Parts: sequence; C-alpha cells; structure tokens
Amino acid sequence: MRKKIISAALAVVLLLALLAGCRQEDPVTKNKIKYAYEQDLNVIDDNYRNYYEIFVYSFYDTDEDGIGDLNGVTEKLDYIKDMGFNGIWLMPVMPSPTYHKYDVKDYCAIDPEYGTMEDMERLIEECHKRDIRLIIDFVINHTSSQHPWFQEACAYLRGLSDGEQPDSSECPYVDYYHFSEKKESGTYYPVSGSDWYYEGSFWSEMPDLNLKSDALREELEETADFWLERGIDGFRMDAAMHFEENSTSFNNDVLNWLYTYCTDQNPDFYMVSEVWAGLSIVEEYYGSKTPSFFNFDGASAEGLLVKTVRGQSSAENFVDQMIQYEELFSAENPDYIDAPFLTNHDMVRVANNLMSKEEDLKMACGLLMTMNGSPFVYYGEEIGMSSKGTKDENKRIPMFWSDTDETGMTDGPQDMDPGIVSEFPSAEEQLTDGYSLLNYYKRALRLRNENPEIARGTVTKVEALCEGETAAAVKTWQDSTIGIVYNTSEEEAALNLEGTELSGMKIRGYLTLDGEEITLDDGTLTMPAKSICILK
Ligand code: CA
Repeated sequence: MRKKIISAALAVVLLLALLAGCRQEDPVTKNKIKYAYEQDLNVIDDNYRNYYEIFVYSFYDTDEDGIGDLNGVTEKLDYIKDMGFNGIWLMPVMPSPTYHKYDVKDYCAIDPEYGTMEDMERLIEECHKRDIRLIIDFVINHTSSQHPWFQEACAYLRGLSDGEQPDSSECPYVDYYHFSEKKESGTYYPVSGSDWYYEGSFWSEMPDLNLKSDALREELEETADFWLERGIDGFRMDAAMHFEENSTSFNNDVLNWLYTYCTDQNPDFYMVSEVWAGLSIVEEYYGSKTPSFFNFDGASAEGLLVKTVRGQSSAENFVDQMIQYEELFSAENPDYIDAPFLTNHDMVRVANNLMSKEEDLKMACGLLMTMNGSPFVYYGEEIGMSSKGTKDENKRIPMFWSDTDETGMTDGPQDMDPGIVSEFPSAEEQLTDGYSLLNYYKRALRLRNENPEIARGTVTKVEALCEGETAAAVKTWQDSTIGIVYNTSEEEAALNLEGTELSGMKIRGYLTLDGEEITLDDGTLTMPAKSICILK
C-alpha cells in the first residue's frame, strides 16, 4: 500500500514536470517563455569582463546607519554574479571628507563610513570565490586638502621666512604638490598664513599632485603594492587627462609608469582610465599602452548608443563605429580593450535620456552588450533608475532594491533632492518578471558569457544586410565566427541571409523586447521590432 502511494506520487511529479517542460516555464520567474537557445557558458578568464560600477555609499547598508558599506557589496555579490557580471568597479573607498570620496586623505585605508580593511579583505575573497575581479578607483590627480602630505607641506611653507625657498630635504611634501610664490594662471589658491599658492584645478579642497616628483611616485608605488597585496585586481584611474592639463604625452607617461609597475607585480593587473574627451583624444591616450579607456564617444545623451536607439544614427552606422573604434584604438595599442558604457556617476542616467521608455532602454542595453571590450554598467541602470537634473548627488541615489522591504536600503547623499522616483519597479519585483528590463540585462550578459567572440572578435560589416535600421556584422575570434544582426526599427524585419557571410549559420541566441521569437526559415531571418540576433 505504502509502495503504491509512493509510485502514484512519483507519477504525479513526473507528469507535472513534463507539463512544465512543454510550457517552457522559466524556473526562476515562472513566466512562460519561448526562448529555447540557452547555450553553455563559455567565460574566458582574462581581462575582458562585464563590469558593474558601484557607488558604495548608495548601494546596500548592513549596519543600519543609512550609508552603504563594503559588507553590503559582499552581501549582494550573488545578485551581481547572477546578473552575469564578472567584474566590479568600486568608486573610491579610501578615507575622505566628502560623501563621494574623490578627495583622498589616506591612500592605504578604508573610509570608516564604508567599514574596515578586514571587510575589504573579505569582499575581495568573496569576489574571487565567484570569479569576479574587483577594481577600485585610484585618484592620483589630487588629494584632499586634509591629506597629511598637504597639511605638512602648508605648515612648512608657513614657517619659511620672507624670500626663503622650500627645501625638500627638510619637507619632502613640498614637492608633492604644485606650490608657487605667485598666483599662476590656472586655478591657484593661497596657502593661508603664507605668501604661497597651490594649484587646485577641480576645487580649492582638492590640491593637485605633482606627478613629476620621483618621491611622490615612489609613494604611489607603495600604495599600489598595498592594494595589490590585498588582492585588488586593478585600478580605475580618475581624471587621467588632468594629471597635467593639455599634455597627453606626460599623462600617457604617468599611466604607462603605473601600469608597468603594477603588471610587474601581477601580470593579470587591469587598468581602465577616465579620459572624458572625444574619440581623437581617447585614441591618443591608447598610446600609453595601458589597456582600457572609457568610451565616452558611445556614452551619455549625445553618444552613439543613445543616438542609435533614438534613430538619430542608423544601425549601419553603429556597425561602422564599432569598426572605427577597433581601427583607431588598435593602431595605438594592439592589446587595447574598449570600455563602452551608457552612463556613469557623473552623468544624467540613461533612463532620463530615453524618457524611461522600456523598449528603448532594452535596445540601449542590447547595443552596449554586443560591443567589443569590457562593458561597464552603472548600478541601478539594470532596473532603469532615474536621476534628476544635473546635480551630482541626484545621479547617485539609493539603489532601489525593494518597494516593501527596507532591508539594506540606504539614505543616499545628504544634498540629494527628495522624491526622485524610478519609473520602473524595484530589483526585487523585476527579478520575478521574465520580461523586465533587469531580465533583459541578464539575457544580454548571458549572451556575452556564452559567446566570447562578442567581446574579443574582429568586426567585419555584412554589407548586404545593412539598410536603414537593420544591420549586421560578423565577429571572429580564434577561428570562431559569429554573426550579429540588428533591427533597431519599430517594425518587424525579414532578412535573407542567403549569399551573405551569415548564410548557413544558425540562431545561437537573441534579445527581443517581450519574449517575441526570432525565427530562421529557408534562409530568411524574421526579427521583431527592436531585436538583436546572434548566429553561428
Ligand atoms: Ca552602513
């Protein structure tokens, strides 16, 4: 009798499993999905990564003081990993008097608001367990005016008698900054209580470092050692074009010096630098032979990605631009890794740029995630979070984890405007909706993690398939070639692949807005509005 009940129960379970199989339910979201192209993961362990940019302050709070912390990042690593990211960029974590912490007062410590060095070591360990690389902001253009180097240098200058010149053997820190007896052109501020001035090109409380100083460079090398020994995998170099204004060759020399030093310690070390400028200038910076620069040409409201989504730039032009990036950057550094992104912490969020239109945000994500290099996603972009106006604090508001559960929610920067409302549901809600923006990001990241050619392949345009708002490219990496077809229009498109480079390829995966299918019958690829298909 007991046996009979067990077999009856088993039969029911089997039947249910079969039924579920027919309906192709997503096991996580329980949504009915038509997608049947999930491939095995093929994640290569190199410096091509999918990066998630985190402003720790507004991310996740574990000790209920309203400020995000390193333990909060550790707590959310499974969320990050599950999204498909395998790299994290933390905005500055070192002690600083400001909420954004881009003015450092101690290069070898953790800001107490964010936790302790032990918390950092645990975060690094937990990242590495999940094959996530962790890079941090290394701000060497300037320090905080509260940094002991600056304080000691100013105290020394105050003690000099009239006309007496500073002597770095008495106070080495006078060489660390740009001090001058007269108010130089540029932004110079008086050293109070003395006849001296110092350069602070961003702000009076951010004195510029003198990166020509060998003593300072040695100090920065020791700082790099400190973080590399703790397991940090790379640096994001802030304000690289301002090390010395209008001197690309000097700035390239600084980047090359630090990169060479760090790769000598760890051959896998990664560096990505901020040169907020047009393509021709970014191209020159690749002459530093450091691997990555953020691709500002593609980013923000006026960049290639948003323009393509808006139809201000054609799909064909998007493919042409991918090829142009490759040509320009590889000419300066054959080992370059492009670093495309939609927005970062200094920019109006992409949701605002695209009027919070879900289909457009999905398309923007799809375009980004089919680009070469290491894409960077600013926290909250995956759930369509908004900013407000151009005030920095409003671009750095609390991550919207849940509408009902306050756990981990941060208060955000003090000067942030109240009531900045996201037009999209919380991360928690979006996780349960198979067609949410968040799940679109997940699928797009999954495609990258299934197809290493997307990040690394040499791009060739498929001329025959480029017309108006449809376009195609092939990418070849290590003798493996994939095709990528774009339909950025509002209409369905039918493309005949016969006789093109894509002829004979099969669908390998795709991105559609709300679960629509892409089909390939008798050489004709039928793509719904705003969709992207990967073929192989
Ligand atoms: Ca906290």
